[in-house]
Amino acid sequence: MTQPTGIQRRSLLQGGSLALLLGSADIAWGASIVAVRVWPAAAYTRVTIESDTALKTVPIFVANPPRLAVDIEGIELNPALKELVGKVRSDDPYITGVRVGQYANKTVRLVLDLRQMVKPQVFNLLPVKTGNTQYQHRLVLDLYPSDVADPLEALIVDKLKGGTAFNAPSMTATPTPPPASRLGIHADPVGDLMTHQNRKPEIPTAEAPASAASAPITTAASVTSQPSDGERYIIVALDPGHGGEDPGAIGPRGTKEKDVVLQIARRMRERINSTTIKTKHGNLPMRAYLTRDADFFVPLNQRVEKARRVQADLFVSIHADAFMTPDARGASVFALSQGAASSAQARWMAKQENRADLVGGLNIKTQDAAVQRALLDMSTTAQINDSLKLGGEMLGQIRRIGKLHKPHVEQAGFAVLKAPDIPSVLVETAFISNPDEEARLISDSYQNELTNALMKSIERYFSRNPPLARTRNT
Ligand SMILES: [Zn+2]
Repeated sequence: MTQPTGIQRRSLLQGGSLALLLGSADIAWGASIVAVRVWPAAAYTRVTIESDTALKTVPIFVANPPRLAVDIEGIELNPALKELVGKVRSDDPYITGVRVGQYANKTVRLVLDLRQMVKPQVFNLLPVKTGNTQYQHRLVLDLYPSDVADPLEALIVDKLKGGTAFNAPSMTATPTPPPASRLGIHADPVGDLMTHQNRKPEIPTAEAPASAASAPITTAASVTSQPSDGERYIIVALDPGHGGEDPGAIGPRGTKEKDVVLQIARRMRERINSTTIKTKHGNLPMRAYLTRDADFFVPLNQRVEKARRVQADLFVSIHADAFMTPDARGASVFALSQGAASSAQARWMAKQENRADLVGGLNIKTQDAAVQRALLDMSTTAQINDSLKLGGEMLGQIRRIGKLHKPHVEQAGFAVLKAPDIPSVLVETAFISNPDEEARLISDSYQNELTNALMKSIERYFSRNPPLARTRNT
């Protein structure tokens, strides 16, 4: 972000030569590389290079064959950088290989050979520390697909799994979903969902950061087309907290919040996809949509936007955070607050959660200010009322399987709960900082009990508040 000034550069130089005298092989001129990490995902692949001082880079994208070259100035090739070559998985959706070499005196050239055209983003992050996680300077290379992935498409990919996942045709170019037969399946409930559901987004939706600048805005509206025959799905957006560079809280045994909440979300998805709600408007089958289904970082506002694009009926963010004291225990449920937080604990928790973008690594240049303003301008009063009802049902069910930290739904300004039109709750399933609760969180039996409790409360909520009563299909 900030490049070293002349004076800083000189002091870096001195620091570097001192270290060389000490004989460390990993210390390069000017900056030393602390770690390299790769986070592959269908949504995007991220390469992170962490160093003790900010790295100055010149990225060059070459279209044919697609590759991203990044010249990192002021360093020499070292073992940590060479490690990157072995860290790319053979199934990485974007990268086929990495080459590093000393390109010129004090310049290392890093070349990422790519599977497809991408919209790369190269940016620096300042050092950050939160909870047990601490990062020095980070250079981030994000590789986004050049065809903007639509979350509805992701729903289909999710259903198909396997080999087609990374090559699924882009919905942005074709207004109707590909015929099921072409994708090698006979019946795809999510494909049906796309043709049956009328879609009328009320305000613009944000694009993936990669495409904010130039790609056409694709809203869910462009993906539908066929007249509704009255059938309606209930869509539940499940939002496993954290991911990628952001591990969330870390338990005493080393359990990472990002991993357990993804496990719980996957269990819930399975249950939701096989559940039909009986309401006075008829039987409504449910479908789950995960804001992330792998270990990668999703910025907070993107989680909200993803849920809005699939026109989710509910948004459930799943967490298992640490607390200030290791003996804190019990589950809590949070809703948004338009004003002050309902307690000091709720305020503290929201502040912690809202730091996720700093840790996870957000390219602030791509934030869509217009969309953010539009969201802020919309009232969330009705949303909060519905969220409190849902949260109350959840506490009622969770109480049967374990302790509650607070017996009522708490409220605070969680960024991830700000969809104006989707009832949204954040469930702190347990405190991972408590050794007993950490043990429970990783057990199959507790994950199942929790899934049951959350499912039961979601079913009760919908049977009392059928979605057609506040339908978007009118
Ligand atoms: Zn969390």
